[in-house]
Amino acid sequence: MQQEAGVGGEALEVWIDQDLCTGDGICVQYAPEVFELDIDGLAYVKGADDELLQSAGASTPVPLPLLTDVVDSARECPGECIHVRRASDGVEVYGPDVT
Ligand code: SF4
Repeated sequence: MQQEAGVGGEALEVWIDQDLCTGDGICVQYAPEVFELDIDGLAYVKGADDELLQSAGASTPVPLPLLTDVVDSARECPGECIHVRRASDGVEVYGPDVT
C-alpha cells in the first residue's frame, strides 16, 4: 500500500471544485498522477486505480511522494479550486480556504 501524505502524520486528501475550474490544466502538468482533464474540459482527481473520479467534488488520498506537487498545484491554480484537507476531520490544510 502506498504511503499517504500527512501533516503531523495525518492522512490528506485532495478535491477540486469544478464550478471554479478554468480548465487550463496547470494541475495536470504538476501532478498527472493525481489530476486529469476530462472531456468536459474540467479537471478531476484520480482514484487509486488511476481511474478518473468524475463526480463533482470527489476526493482522493494524496500520496506522500506527490505532496509537494499537489500543494504547488493548489497554490498555482488560477481558479483557486484545489483543496487539500485532512482525511480525519475534513479541515483544509492547503488551498483557498486556508487563511
Ligand atoms: S489548475 Fe485549477 S483551474 Fe486549472 S485545470 Fe487544474 S483545477 Fe482547474
